[in-house]
Amino acid sequence: MWWLLVIPSLFLIFLVYASFCIRSGVFLRAFCGSRTARKVVALTFDDGPDPVHTPEVLEVLKAYEVSASFFCAGNKIPGQEELIRTMHHEGHLVGNHSYSHSWSFPFFPFEKMKTDVAACGAALEQVLSQPVPWFRPPFGVTNPVVARVVRTLGLKTIGWNIRSLDTLIQSRERLVARMVRNLRPGAVILMHDRMPHCAGVVRDLLEALRARGYQVVRVDELYNNLS
Ligand SMILES: [Zn+2]
Repeated sequence: MWWLLVIPSLFLIFLVYASFCIRSGVFLRAFCGSRTARKVVALTFDDGPDPVHTPEVLEVLKAYEVSASFFCAGNKIPGQEELIRTMHHEGHLVGNHSYSHSWSFPFFPFEKMKTDVAACGAALEQVLSQPVPWFRPPFGVTNPVVARVVRTLGLKTIGWNIRSLDTLIQSRERLVARMVRNLRPGAVILMHDRMPHCAGVVRDLLEALRARGYQVVRVDELYNNLS
């Protein structure tokens, strides 16, 4: 009777895929890149602002005259208001990455999740004096509750189609080689500005992109013009 387990197992595998692959689009359509012939990519950073490493990343972006997108965790905002305003004034997009960024966020019930996401939005709005409609779910997890929260709060969900794995891989060379290998026009690259090697990785990546004729744009530009 082992075969009776096959269908539930396949269904379970499908549910895990649908929840953990932000590109699956099963529960929620997240913008994960554009189909375009133009050699453009968007750099996105999650889990900041980090008082030490985010300014390092901003310096590199400024030196290369490149705009990027930062999805901030609300619980890291207190004390870093000036840093967030700097991101914004230097031309970067600031987005919502939930307040708690809790490991259990994907399992939150609707009201709790809505309150959490709205709290990050309110904190960012307070700092920037403008609404922040851009949202990236923690861990890139999507499920019916995340979809309902996004719908209720009227947010635009941003995913990615190139995951750097920069929280796991320490070697700058390997990280950049991995991103370049997966490079394609309209790609959205995921990195983390809380990682100590982030600024160095960004510098190496920008050199590699420049050598290949790629232009870096903000993710909202891809979303608005090329989606
Ligand atoms: Zn995150």
